[in-house]
Amino acid sequence: MAEEDARHGIGPLANAREHEWANVLTHLKEEVGEAAYRNWLLPVSLQRCDNGHAIVAAPTRFLRDWVATHYADRLLAHWRAENRLVSRISVVVGVTPGRDAIDYSAGLRGRNGGIRRSDSPLSEPSAGAEIAEDKAQLSALDQRFTFENFVVGKPNELAHAAARRVAEACANPVHTVPFNPLFLYGGVGLGKTHLMHAVAWHVRRHANDRKVIYLSAEKFMYRFIRALRFKSTMDFKEQFRSVDLLMIDDVQFISGKDSTQEEFFHTFNALVDQNRQIVISADKSPSDLEGLEERMRSRLGWGLVADLHPTTYELRLGILESKVEQSGIRIPRKVMEFLAHKITSNVRELEGALNRIIADMQLIGREVTLESAQELLRDLLRFCERRVTIDEIQRRVAEHFNIRLSEMTSERRARAVARPRQVAMYLAKQLTTRSLPEIGKKFGGRDHTTVMHAVRKIEELVLADAALAEDVELLRRMLQS
Ligand code: ADP
Ligand code: MG
Repeated sequence: MAEEDARHGIGPLANAREHEWANVLTHLKEEVGEAAYRNWLLPVSLQRCDNGHAIVAAPTRFLRDWVATHYADRLLAHWRAENRLVSRISVVVGVTPGRDAIDYSAGLRGRNGGIRRSDSPLSEPSAGAEIAEDKAQLSALDQRFTFENFVVGKPNELAHAAARRVAEACANPVHTVPFNPLFLYGGVGLGKTHLMHAVAWHVRRHANDRKVIYLSAEKFMYRFIRALRFKSTMDFKEQFRSVDLLMIDDVQFISGKDSTQEEFFHTFNALVDQNRQIVISADKSPSDLEGLEERMRSRLGWGLVADLHPTTYELRLGILESKVEQSGIRIPRKVMEFLAHKITSNVRELEGALNRIIADMQLIGREVTLESAQELLRDLLRFCERRVTIDEIQRRVAEHFNIRLSEMTSERRARAVARPRQVAMYLAKQLTTRSLPEIGKKFGGRDHTTVMHAVRKIEELVLADAALAEDVELLRRMLQS
């Protein structure tokens, strides 16, 4: 609870609305589980709530759409339980009221096909819309998720190249299937969905007659279960089996549900037999996916398995540069470097931070400086920092170098313990927003100059000592994943 409290600004200045919001989140977390909560709900913040209309903000459109389609009704239900005057909930993009609230993508389709304000009340999509939805399917793809907008770096170059290959092969008049399936995996917010949408856009642009279906595994499951209920499984099968390219996102959600898995397996085999391309994404590799039948697991690994690694500083900076360029707004390089340095978890959060800065600039109309960015993102940075704590760093480093945890705070200066301790201090400086004195305190009350010395020392050493550099990199990854 402490975590959410800080995140959502419950403190001396707390007001009733924020308390309600915090309670809503707590209840929803119990309902959806830790993982889904972290992925989808934690980044959402309360924007305002008046006249029974609650407005919450998600950092990106994608997240907004996801929260709107998956959780809006539950959010409203819990809110009502807290405060029965609340009758509407809207999910918008960004943090500033009114900004960015108009959505031109078709993620949420307007009633007459026009542009719909995304902060109009949400309702469950009606069951009858399903067929139309297939037709409109492609228009529901995020327009920003194209290959042109995807920044390639070491961590994602294989996945990107593979996705491009698939897109080009599928769009080619002589239809070939380079690898079947293409299995993309990696942590949340690293670009899996972006790449899948990019494939769909490419095929749509270059070979409009190809039938492409992109959907989340959850949706696949939902449709299948409905088909079972309405005894229309034949149609369901036909629909999927007549596609040229089937892309299913986040298949980790399929694992465990036996009948859906079975159906997925059959659909999958039928498509592969007919030489149709399949692209799958998941948060883990096929062999690490839990709750998956063995035959399914091995089948998924038949084609090309490409992983998206955690981002590097260079990639993050590249992504920021590209987004800033697209937005046409001037942001000092120092600010971008600061963000790339501090927000290391995933691209979604990086974008969220950038959007916050841009929104603030546009609204307040002031220049961004490093200081104002730091100020604006204080909550977010505090939240990032909480992900890696100094205690955790000490524990991992001690384990890694096989020394006692107590050596992190001990007085001993033997190299065998002093070096790991320095590594831990260095990582604490890099991965948390703690100040040098605060770090010193955590290391047995050492002086801040000792910490500074340790940081410099390790900075020097990683350049000269490849083995140590590898240790540090490994630890960093482990701590951040
Ligand atoms: P995932 O599906 O892996 O959880 P997404 O594809 O939804 O992640 O990506 C999260 C956000 O980060 C999206 O807005 C996406 O456009 C952006 N993003 C991720 N990787 C890149 C990249 N290499 N270049 C540009 N934007 C990226
Ligand atoms: Mg995704």
